[in-house]
Parts: sequence; structure tokens; C-alpha cells
Amino acid sequence: LRSPQPAGAIRPIDRGSVHRICSGQVVLNLGTAVKELVENSLDAGATNIDIKLKDYGAELIEVSDNGGGVEEENFEGLTLKHYTSKIQDFSDLMHVETFGFRGEALSSLCALSDVTIFTCHKSAKVGTRLVFDHNGKITQRTHFPRQQGTTVSIQQLFYTLPVRHKEFQRNIKKEYAKMVQLLQAYCIVSKGVRINCTNQVGQGKKSCVISTAGSPSLKENIGAVFGQKQLQSLIPFVQLPPSEAVCEEYGLNPDGMPQNLYSITGFISRCDHGVGRSATDRQFFFINQRPCDPAKVVKIVNEVYHLHNKHQYPFVVLNIEVDSECVDINVTPDKRQILLQEEKFLLAILKTSLMEMFSNDVNKLNVNQKLLDISGNLKKTLPEETEEPRAEMLSDSETENPGGEGKKIMTLARLRESFSLHQATESNFQSSKKAKQQHSFPRQRLLDTTGSAVKIQKAVLTKEAESFRKLDSKMSIPRRHFRKLEDTADSGFCSISESDAGCSTPEAGSCINSESAINSEEEFCSTEEQMQKECLKTLGCSKKSLDCDVQVLGTEPKLDQVDDWTDQNKFSQEANSYSPRVKRSKSRNFKSEADDSQAGKYPEEKNTSVDVLVEIKKKIVPLEFSMKILAEKVKKVIQQQQKNTETENYRRFKAKISPGDNKVAEDELRKEISKEMFAKMEIIGQFNLGFIIAKLNSDLFIIDQHATDEKYNFEMLQQHTVLQGQKLIVPQNLNLTAVNETVLIENLEIFRKNGFDFVINENAPVTQKVKLISLPTSKNWTFGPQDIDELIFMLSDCPGVMCRPSRVRQMFASRACRKSVMIGTALNVQEMRKLITHMGEIEHPWNCPHGRPTMRHIVSLDLIS
Ligand code: ADP
Ligand code: MG
Repeated sequence: LRSPQPAGAIRPIDRGSVHRICSGQVVLNLGTAVKELVENSLDAGATNIDIKLKDYGAELIEVSDNGGGVEEENFEGLTLKHYTSKIQDFSDLMHVETFGFRGEALSSLCALSDVTIFTCHKSAKVGTRLVFDHNGKITQRTHFPRQQGTTVSIQQLFYTLPVRHKEFQRNIKKEYAKMVQLLQAYCIVSKGVRINCTNQVGQGKKSCVISTAGSPSLKENIGAVFGQKQLQSLIPFVQLPPSEAVCEEYGLNPDGMPQNLYSITGFISRCDHGVGRSATDRQFFFINQRPCDPAKVVKIVNEVYHLHNKHQYPFVVLNIEVDSECVDINVTPDKRQILLQEEKFLLAILKTSLMEMFSNDVNKLNVNQKLLDISGNLKKTLPEETEEPRAEMLSDSETENPGGEGKKIMTLARLRESFSLHQATESNFQSSKKAKQQHSFPRQRLLDTTGSAVKIQKAVLTKEAESFRKLDSKMSIPRRHFRKLEDTADSGFCSISESDAGCSTPEAGSCINSESAINSEEEFCSTEEQMQKECLKTLGCSKKSLDCDVQVLGTEPKLDQVDDWTDQNKFSQEANSYSPRVKRSKSRNFKSEADDSQAGKYPEEKNTSVDVLVEIKKKIVPLEFSMKILAEKVKKVIQQQQKNTETENYRRFKAKISPGDNKVAEDELRKEISKEMFAKMEIIGQFNLGFIIAKLNSDLFIIDQHATDEKYNFEMLQQHTVLQGQKLIVPQNLNLTAVNETVLIENLEIFRKNGFDFVINENAPVTQKVKLISLPTSKNWTFGPQDIDELIFMLSDCPGVMCRPSRVRQMFASRACRKSVMIGTALNVQEMRKLITHMGEIEHPWNCPHGRPTMRHIVSLDLIS
């Protein structure tokens, strides 16, 4: 901070420091470190790459290859910044076919760790061992016998950046999991290269992380990484030219389309229910064999998949080949972001092709059934798996465009699409062409949700088409929220979504109704908004007025505004008994003189809260003086003061009661109400047979009796239920990847608590080590390997933390719901007290398991007294 230079002088940072500063941006994490080394080996033409990790890579990363090796004259340049053997000037970048070209990786690794390189070039008689300092200078150079190839050894990654190093070590398991995912991509795409990775923790046994056999086929590489079972769930990608409708959607002119610009190959999960995955953990995209994250491509693939299997995500391996002149890989140092020319065209190809692939997949069965089917419980026959795209499919398509008629055809296509659902349900899909039309339904929906620019003449759409579109987009909303909803058989309570909106669908509403005793009341708070409306209606004030009320709290108080507000509001007589204004006058009557004087005496204390101005102005009252009274008052004031230190903390509620502000309201409640405060709440009474009104000092709260009880019961079930396992007759092989096996073995206890049990054979080959011997069972709920996958996914993010598969949570949620006090049940004070005390005993009392808020702050009585 202290600089000998006069302030303001602009001088270069010394080179060593620049190096340090920038290196941390090239090698970001364990994943990039390993990736860079593997890329170097692949660039060197290796067919055999061994990766050795110690302590998940925190201690040591060592990558050995049998590539070309480094020539003696290049030793010096190996680790210098921007020294590369791969390009010489910018124009070379256009045609670069190697992974690396920036000459940054090794120099950055030197700056961040202790680097040693062993290498033997094909022309050299003997190998060499090179030790580097943090500036990339060679500090030791000795002969070292080895075969042709290179070994790069990285010790103590990030130890030169102390803060990052600590963070790195703390998160090493997460870093490791991400690294493995990155490595999987290279394993899949590197045909003919054998990649093997091991990890050794402490002095323990080396365990295999990943291992491929150097197969020349993508498919076999996938099999080697993820097991044969995964392969069986995949269909090959079959590329089609973009269809007319999709062209329109993307605003592409079918005539001016480049020919053969993109060539896409790969595999994707079949779309039948249960075949996909519960997370996006196995999605690999490549552009010209380079692993990358093309965001829009990822999005469209998942979107199209969700149209056919809305609860799951696909396994994806897609390689997009494109002329190297049409891509820019030099966007970020890690080269994972890539700019593409004609990207829309690529997206259109992907969309058309995937739609066709999935519809072919589905149409092998009764299609009408598919239209009705919500949970997607269809069994489809397995299409023949070939790595080459099937030619008949290509010729079968209707996408070749006769050049001439242009726009007229485009709108016709659109119209046809719009009406195709009607056609589809009427006809029986004899021809594949008709079958295809059936997809206009989801296609249309996708169009709506992606909001892509649709440059078509909308006016030409008939009203029916429009209304169909509207209907469709309406339908898509609840469905999205119900992605997780799978099994409704058990409960009859179907709101399973974790989001707030989960309660907003008609299904959920009616289910609650059927379960709860009260029916006369319209659906009990099918949305939060409705709940508010409902209670506000009965409170006698419009939502607006209450909103306004709360706003007064939140904004700087202006007296005239407050007055305006009171004047403007005309409450009905009946409502008056509940209105804040009446409360105000009541509490005013009961207020002791001491309160008044206190307010006058300690204005600075009150200043911290926003309602000060209102009070001060109203409390200017001449006081009669008497020593005796003063003494009493002082006593009271001291007592009050003690109370006040507690009171201070929760007087700052500002959030509005509005569905959009749920999060804010929860955060505020969380901050301002500690667990002990629930016990101190005073029960005012029950409202509308559904809500408890409670008071904490001068704040009024409304508490949803059902949601609150449900949450408590849910948390108790979560914490205390040990699911009973049922033994399988035959142990089932799980075909887990090496990493997932490790995660499972390390968290065995958590699996057991969830009713899963395994036999573990440490000596078996990778993917065969774990066999499932017991599954949790519970009445109508069945669990399976997909729940294990999900647990593994969660546990690789936070190892050792007790968690439950989402379906177990769903089961608990539905059980909790049925156990809980229903809306419409009259409660006595003890019962209400119990519910509120329970709130103080759980971790997050703010939402029921289905996402509905349990509690809201209504008003602070201080504001109106
Ligand atoms: P880049 O890969 O961008 O060229 P690096 O810092 O990763 O930059 O590597 C610098 C140079 O070191 C490479 O250009 C290459 O010539 C050489 N090199 C690195 N790793 C290997 C390896 N495993 N085998 C042979 N040469 C290597
Ligand atoms: Mg490199």
C-alpha cells in the first residue's frame, strides 16, 4: 500500500508480479490444471496417458504420456509465458488443430506450484529431469532414464496463493468431482487413446478414478466410462436439415442456408420415462472434438428433451464438426466458451433432428396414449443402435425445400403446424409424416417459452391457431413446476414441487380440498396471493390498503401521507373491528403514561426505527410535574429499557405481503425472529379457522396453521425416520463410475439411513465394485437405482451431509400433510400454542414442504398507536 513513487505515476508492474496475477486466471481450479496437462499430452500425439493424483490432486498431480517428448532446445521455452510450439502468428489460429496454442498453461502452473518435468524426445538417447522455479526458470537439470514421452508433475497446486490454497484444500472433494467430469469429456472424445486416472489418499491404496481402453469408437469410450448399461439407454444422433417450421422460428431463410456447414454426431438418452437422468451431470458437448460449454446448444437439447420426458435430463454426447474458419475458440483462457458463425442454423438443425429422433422413438407406440399421458410412463422399443446416422431417416424427411415459393410456403407450414394436434388426434398416424406433425404441440410450446424471435407473419395465423397457442402456453406453466412430480398414487396430495408455485395448480388445490374438512371456503389458499386476498378480504381492507400500510413502514415517514392514508380508507363496519385503525385506538387506550413519557425521553433510542417522526410529532404534550410521579416513571423506564433491548431487534419489518416478495419476507423474518421468540409470542386467536394471529410485543403475525404443522411434521419425519430396507433376492449391479463408487462407499451410512444397502467388493473391477442388496420400501412408494444416483449427485457436492432422495422427501411431505391440522379445524389456545412452539424447534420454519409460506408479518402496532 505504501509506495515510494509519488501517487498518480503510472508505471508497469514488475514482470514477476504480472505473472503471478495472471496465472491464477489461466489455471482456475483442479479441473483446469488436469485438463491443460491432458491436452498437452494429446497434442503431443500420445496414445497412452496416465494421471496420478495424491489426495485428490491437492498433494500431487502427475500426468505421464507416451507422446513425442520435448527436444532439448525447447527445454527453456517450455514454461515461459506465451511460448508455444503450436502457432507462430495470429493467422495460424484460424486452422489450429491442437488443444493448446496460448503457451500459458505450463508457465502458469509454475507460478502456482512446484513443477517438475521428465521428458525424453524421440531423438534423444536419454531422458531429462527438469525442475522449475515459480518464474518458469530451470533450476535443476539432470539425466533421467525414461521411455519416449513426457511426465509433468505438479506439487501443491496453488500454494503460492495462500488464500486460494486454503479454499482449494477446503473444497477439494468438490474440485475433484468437477475435475473428474471434465476428464470424462476427454476420455469420451479421445478415440484411440488409453486414459487412466488413479487417486491415492494418504498412504492408502490407489483407487481407479477413470479408465478407458483406447478404443477407436466414441460408443466404446462411453461404455468404458459409464458402463454398458448407460449405453443401452442411448440412441445415436441422426442429423436432419432444419425443417420449415423451425427455420421460421429462428428467422432463417431456408433458401440461403449454407450446405453441410455443420456435421453432428453423438448419442442421447432415449426419451421414455426413467431412461434419462435426474441431473445434467452427464452432458458432454464438443466442437471439433474440443470439449466446451455451448450454452445455447445445451439449452435447446435439454428443452427438446423435456418436451418428451419432462422429469429428467438426458445423457448427451454431441460432437459438432464445423469448418474451423467459422469458430472462434480464443474467447476465454480455458477455451470452454466458443463463438460460432451461423449459430442459429446449428440450433435449427439440432431442434429438427432431436424432435424427429424422439418422435420416431415415441411413435412406435400408440400415439394417442402419448398425448394423454402425463407422467410419460411409456415403454418404447429400443431402436437399433448404430454409430452412423441412418440414411433412411434422412431421406424420409420432408425438409428439402423447393426453392421458389418462399414465404407462402412458410406460413402454410406454420398453419399446418398449428392445426396438427386436431389432425393428430383424429387420424391414426398412418404415415410417419403425420406422426411428425403431432410434434407441433411441444414444438409450439418451446417456441413460446424460449421467446425466440419469430419473424413470421402472425396476422396470417387464424384465431383458432392463436387460441390453441395460448392454451398451450398456459398448460406449460404448471407442468414446468411439476417436473419433479412423479408418483401421486400414495398421497392423493399432489403438490410436490418445491417451488412456491407448486401449490398453484388446480390439481393441488383440489387435492387439498378433498383432504381438508372444509369445502365451503374456495380452495384453501391455492396460491399465496389468494391466501392474502382471502384473509385481507375478511379483514375488511383491500390488498392495496394493506400494501400501502406496509409501505409506510418501509419508506421515510411523512405525516401528511399517513393522514391521507387513514382518511382515504373507508372500512365497512364489520371490518372495523379487525382493522388496524381500531387496534390502534385500542392499544392507545391501554397505554400507560409511562409509555408516553418514555417515548419523549428517549427519542434517540427510537430513532433507529423508521416510525420515529410520526411518534414525536404526536407526543408533544405538556406534562404536569410531580417528583413522586417522576420517580415512579423512572422506575418503569428502567424496566422498559430492559425489555427494549430485546424489542429493538424485530421492529424493522419492511417486506410487502406479495407473492413476488416471498423471498424478501422470509429473509427478513429469519433475520429478525430468533427461535426463542416463538415461545414468547402471545396468541391473539384463530382467524377464519385457518390462521393463527399471534403477537410478539408490538408486531402482529399471521400463521397458516396447516402449513406450519405440516412443516414441523415433515422435519420430524426427515430427522427421525429410518427407512426400512427390503432385501433383494439377487444383488443388483449398479454400474457406477469409479468416482461415484467412491462417493457411495464413503457415504455408506447415509445410504443406509435411507434404506439402501450394498455389498462392496474392493477387488472387483471399476463399475462392478458395488452391488445393491437392499432397497427402501414404503407402502405404495418404490425406490430404485435412480434414487441412488440422485443421492450420489447430492453427496458429491456436500460429502457427509445427511440428505434424502427427492422422492423420499416427497413421500415425507405427503405423509406430513395428511398428519397435520387441516384448514377449517377450530383450535383452542393450547393447540395454537403448541403449533407456534413447534415453529421454534425447527430449522427453517418459513415454508411448508410444498413451498407455501407458513407465516407473515401483518403490521407493527407501534405504527398505528
Ligand atoms: P500450449 O499448449 O498452449 O502450447 P503449454 O504451456 O501448455 O502451452 O505448453 C507449452 C509447450 O510445451 C507446448 O507448446 C509443447 O510444445 C510443450 N509441451 C507441453 N506439454 C508437453 C507434452 N506432454 N509433450 C510434449 N510437449 C509438451
Ligand atoms: Mg497446453
